[in-house]
Amino acid sequence: MFEERRKCSCCGKPIGISGYVALEGGATVCSQCAEMISRMCKFDGGSSGLCDEVGQASDKPADPYADGVHTTILTPEEIKRQLDLYVVGQEEPKKLLSIASYNHFKRSKLKDPTIKKSNVLLIGPTGCGKTYLVQTLARILDVPVAIVPATRLTEAGYIGDDVESVVQSLLMTAGGDKGKAENGIIFIDEIDKLTSSSTETRRAVGGKGVQQALLPILEGCQVNVPVSSGVGQMASFSPTVTVDTSNILFICGGAFPDLERIVKSRLDKKRGGLGFVPNREEQVEYNEANLLQYVQTEDFVEFGLIPEILGRLPVRAKLEALTEDTLRRILTEPEDSLVKQYRKLFAFDGIELSFEDESLTYIAKQALKEGTGARSLRSILELGLEDLMFYAPSMRGLKELRVTVDYLKGTGKPLLFSNSGQTYIKG
Ligand code: ADP
Repeated sequence: MFEERRKCSCCGKPIGISGYVALEGGATVCSQCAEMISRMCKFDGGSSGLCDEVGQASDKPADPYADGVHTTILTPEEIKRQLDLYVVGQEEPKKLLSIASYNHFKRSKLKDPTIKKSNVLLIGPTGCGKTYLVQTLARILDVPVAIVPATRLTEAGYIGDDVESVVQSLLMTAGGDKGKAENGIIFIDEIDKLTSSSTETRRAVGGKGVQQALLPILEGCQVNVPVSSGVGQMASFSPTVTVDTSNILFICGGAFPDLERIVKSRLDKKRGGLGFVPNREEQVEYNEANLLQYVQTEDFVEFGLIPEILGRLPVRAKLEALTEDTLRRILTEPEDSLVKQYRKLFAFDGIELSFEDESLTYIAKQALKEGTGARSLRSILELGLEDLMFYAPSMRGLKELRVTVDYLKGTGKPLLFSNSGQTYIKG
């Protein structure tokens, strides 16, 4: 149903958004290999047609179709299609992220300072897939990603991690490769918790100070970070490397729990509700069930984000809370779904694991009750399958095991099938 990812004919790895060079005879090489081949050819004084072509492609990244070399990158549609394989629902955020990362890539290639960065703000309740979406995107684009909780950050001079540490985390996940880090993704989670100023809170460090400190990094600046954070190595003695953040894609995420109330209150003012005099031209009707669709910059400011940081997060994507139906789909549909994972674990013992339809619905219902999005699916399954994972590997001749809803509820047993096809139930 979905196109296979193109692989590099040289190193064999899937080709990410950094693109490929098509060679005569149908071979394609990823941009890293193309660059390497080009360097080797130059070193050799090579002048074959192949080397000239590859050399031109890497010397002029801003013109991917230059001189007959067919170079391309994953389009937003292709990125979204890959995201669809893993992330269930969240159609609009997937589309927006695909466009933002594609534009981000083009901007870094064009090196045009008039094109502004397309950093992203993801808004959505806990467990709805914000982090997973970013991780999946990074895997598709084949770039390093650092995931940092904003609550860990403090202003310079206070105890805690200063904002530069987010770049250090990225450098570490890039294995110390500065070039890779400079084109990676940094996800700053729980940005909504950086809203108090130091005067409003007894905390020594106000979140707004951290927001201020993040501004130059989000915009693009040179950051000196220690190369290693080896145990026992004093930071002041470790060598540093300068990382340019201009081409790092920043994605910030948060649940923004009170945002709907803020939006509603603004809309009510316009409607003239609750003692406000209506301005006829501004009167609005709105859908109370989906208030976040009307969110504006001023609502985020009212929430506590500073306008300067909002200006640096121009792409805003709202993720929906997961419904019972979506949770059920998450159990089975993604390439790495939990059901597929457990099936592989049981298959190792020669046992085919399956679930009654109702048992999956039951798990989704339980997860919905817990109110932590898809996060609780795993623990519900772990608990539900605990005895089966304990006993099944030592049950000789067991070939198939079907999890029933009654078994999960504790009122019945699973169905077990032996080699001979005979059904028996564990006593
Ligand atoms: P958030 O960052 O929004 O709090 P996460 O991305 O950490 O939530 O989600 C927790 C886990 O739930 C993920 O690791 C993933 O396995 C699963 N998950 C959440 N939302 C989805 C989704 N829409 N599609 C597939 N899996 C999801």
